[in-house]
Amino acid sequence: MIENMPSFSRLVSEFNRLPGIGYKTATRLAYHILKSPTEIVENMAQSLVDVKEYVGQCTQCFSYTEGSVLCRVCSDDHRDKHVLCVVEDPWDIITMENSGIFRGQYHVLHGVISPLDGISPKDLKIDELMSRVELSRQSEATEIKELIFALDADLEGDTTILYLAKLLKDKGVSVTRIAHGVPVGGDIDYVDHRTLGRALENRVNI
Ligand SMILES: [Zn+2]
Repeated sequence: MIENMPSFSRLVSEFNRLPGIGYKTATRLAYHILKSPTEIVENMAQSLVDVKEYVGQCTQCFSYTEGSVLCRVCSDDHRDKHVLCVVEDPWDIITMENSGIFRGQYHVLHGVISPLDGISPKDLKIDELMSRVELSRQSEATEIKELIFALDADLEGDTTILYLAKLLKDKGVSVTRIAHGVPVGGDIDYVDHRTLGRALENRVNI
């Protein structure tokens, strides 16, 4: 039946591209769209277009921002500019912010080094991080003195931290990583706030 409905099967393939959506779920979602009122579907389509048009990356930390070049954290004067928390994805910032314990700023790498997936340092916001550290030294008020790595405790996370620690050697920046509580192979998205807070307090030098 689907074969005779090219628009429908195209919609199924589009849903099927999404992470965690298999063919069966994609088909169910496509049926749901087909049954929904036109107005609702038009709003949904417009919101897909809008999110690509209006949401961009913060020019300083590379998190997402809408309506301004700097994100909410980067444009907040009350944040501690001397401490930078390095994360893999913008979503990790939400986890850190919810823990309520961190008052510094962030830097989003947009991935971690993973030779198996073909992700090398040049694919990440590493040059940008190095320039940011360098640039911060122009004034004592903005100097970045500590980088805290809050990456997942797996092979890729460890490789990325070691690579960056090497680059940052002799730069006069203290390099630490969040500690206890994040289980080996653990994803920081799934760590509860109190555990994450403790992991941050008990961070260790690299
Ligand atoms: Zn920012």
